Formats: sequence, structure tokens, C-alpha cells
Amino acid sequence: MDFLRPATWDDALAAKAERPGALPLQGGTDVMVEINFDVHRPEALLDLNRVRELAGWDAVDGRLRVGAGVPYVRLIGELGDRLPGLAQASRTVGSPQIRNRGTVGGNLGAASPAGDGHPPLLAGDAVIEVESAARGVRMIPAAEFFVGVKRNALEPDELIRAFWTAPASGPQYFSKIGTRNAMVIAVCSFAIALHPERRRALTGVGSAAPTPRRASAAEDFISAELDWEGRGPLPVSAAQRFAELVREAASPIDDVRGTADYRVHALSVMARRTLTWAWNDYRTEGSARGPAGKEAG
Ligand SMILES: Cc1cc2nc3c(=O)[nH]c(=O)nc-3n(C[C@H](O)[C@H](O)[C@H](O)COP(=O)(O)OP(=O)(O)OC[C@H]3O[C@@H](n4cnc5c(N)ncnc54)[C@H](O)[C@@H]3O)c2cc1C
Repeated sequence: MDFLRPATWDDALAAKAERPGALPLQGGTDVMVEINFDVHRPEALLDLNRVRELAGWDAVDGRLRVGAGVPYVRLIGELGDRLPGLAQASRTVGSPQIRNRGTVGGNLGAASPAGDGHPPLLAGDAVIEVESAARGVRMIPAAEFFVGVKRNALEPDELIRAFWTAPASGPQYFSKIGTRNAMVIAVCSFAIALHPERRRALTGVGSAAPTPRRASAAEDFISAELDWEGRGPLPVSAAQRFAELVREAASPIDDVRGTADYRVHALSVMARRTLTWAWNDYRTEGSARGPAGKEAG
């Protein structure tokens, strides 16, 4: 097996164009497990760890552009205040060792329905920046990135450069059910992000369908129900209907981690809880500002 180690992004794209069968390697926390278990033997590994362009993040025109090689531990430490939903999800990934090496870029590359990075990216309306030497940059909305079980929208000569998302403009939450508290792949997971400037609540559902997905009907329903201006209480009936619509958006299977029935039940509970937490935070934030929208006191 060849081992390719490009030093720049352009060299990495050139190497991928020349050897489309080369398997990108970032943190290696998925790749090395698959090689060790002989799941497949790629003709070559394309190690991206020397590519500095992937290792940083920037704020560009009010949005964040986060390199595919930024590990979870840095997302939590450096961006936790601006991307609280993704940071919350990142804290649940594996162990400290996995969070030191593992990246959202690798999570997107693996495209597992259970990847913990995916629901917050969906709820945050993220866009994935991918690039090839031949055709340049493509910007793919997270909702179009996942195309099948462990399959994403990348062409064989493309690499993931970064993901783009706005810093949180409202409360965000992530919730995950596992068979134990840590080092666990999600039985199912759910993310919510309130976007008050658009009067929208967006969602991400994990491990409850062939791909991570949004619960669009639930989003439309609750966005219209919420009292964005007056910040009034969340009606119990609206929270219940939201949970039902999230449940209807799922199409899970029975597998070793859980049954389909359990998954849809757990999803509806997580949907109701995270919506309640997020809405209560939004209301509290509003009351601290006072009626004129200015800081109180
Ligand atoms: C013990 C253990 C616990 C884990 N726990 C969790 C968990 O709780 N939640 C969770 O979501 N995951 C978990 N994982 C899976 C894994 O850690 C994550 O998916 C992680 O995000 C992968 O990132 P990585 O940088 O290590 O990816 P890698 O292993 O380097 O790559 C993963 C995939 O992405 C591709 N890839 C990487 N970078 C790029 C790029 N720039 N462009 C195109 N393709 C690319 C690779 O070719 C490969 O197909 C766990 C893994 C282990 C071993």
C-alpha cells in the first residue's frame, strides 16, 4: 500500500486527481480501525496531516469556515462559545484520545448515519466546501451531503476542505442516546438550533434513518408556532406535536444498538426536551435584556 504525504492543499488535490483510489487519512480514528479489521485495503493512503490549510479556522463575512482537519478538542476549546451545539456533540465523541485526533472532516468523510457531528451541522445550516483539481470548489449544503448509508456526495477526485456555518444566533442543543454514558456510538441523536433572526428552528436527526437528516415538517410547524417576538411560554401541545413530527421524519431499523421502535420513541423524547431547553434559554435571554431589547440594569 502506497503512503502519500502531500505538504500543501494543491499537492493533496493533485495527488487525489492522479490516484482517485487513494484513501484520505486525517485523524485515522475511522480509517485505521477499518484497515486493522481488514474491512478494505485501499491501494494508497493520502495522509492530510501535513496540509496546514486544513488545520485552522477563520471568521469570513460573519460566517465561520472550519478546516476539515480541526480536531474535536479544538472545536470544543476554541469554538464552543460560537458553535455550542457542535461543541456539545463533540464532547460526546469517543474518548479524550479520539477527540484529540478525530475531526468533523473525517466524520463527514465516513458519513455514518450515527456520526455525532452531523445533526448539529444540519441544524446549523452548514455548507460543506469540497474541491477537486479539475473542477475547483463545490459548496454542498449539509442536507444534500449525505446520500446513503456511509456514502456522501464527494466525487472520487474531491476532498473536503472545510465546513461553513454561522456562529449561533440563538440557543443550540444536542442530545444522544447510547447504551452507556461514554465511548458509545449513538443509538439515536438529535440536534436543534434556534435562528431567531429568521424566526426558524432547525433540526438534525442522527442514527434513525439511512442518512442523517432534517425533520423539515417539524421545523416548519414549530417555527410558525413559537412566539418569537413576545418570547411567550412554549405551549405543551406545540412541543408534543413537534416531537411527533420529528418521530415521523425518522425511518430507523432494528440493529445491535437498538430497535426501530425504541429509536423513534427516544427521538421524540429528545426532540421535546431539547426544544424546551432551547426555548427556555431564548426566553431567559430576552428577559435579561428588558422590554426595549436593551440590557437590563
Ligand atoms: C474508539 C472509537 C470511538 C468513536 N466514537 C465515536 C463517537 O462517539 N461518535 C462519532 O461520531 N464517531 C466516533 N468514532 C468514529 C470517528 O472517531 C469519527 O468518525 C471521527 O470524526 C473521524 O475523524 P478522523 O479525522 O479520525 O477521520 P479518518 O479516520 O482520518 O477518516 C474518516 C473518513 O473520512 C475520510 N476523510 C478524512 N478526511 C477527509 C477529507 N479532508 N476529504 C475527504 N475525505 C476525508 C477518510 O478517507 C475516511 O473515509 C469513534 C471511533 C473510535 C475508534
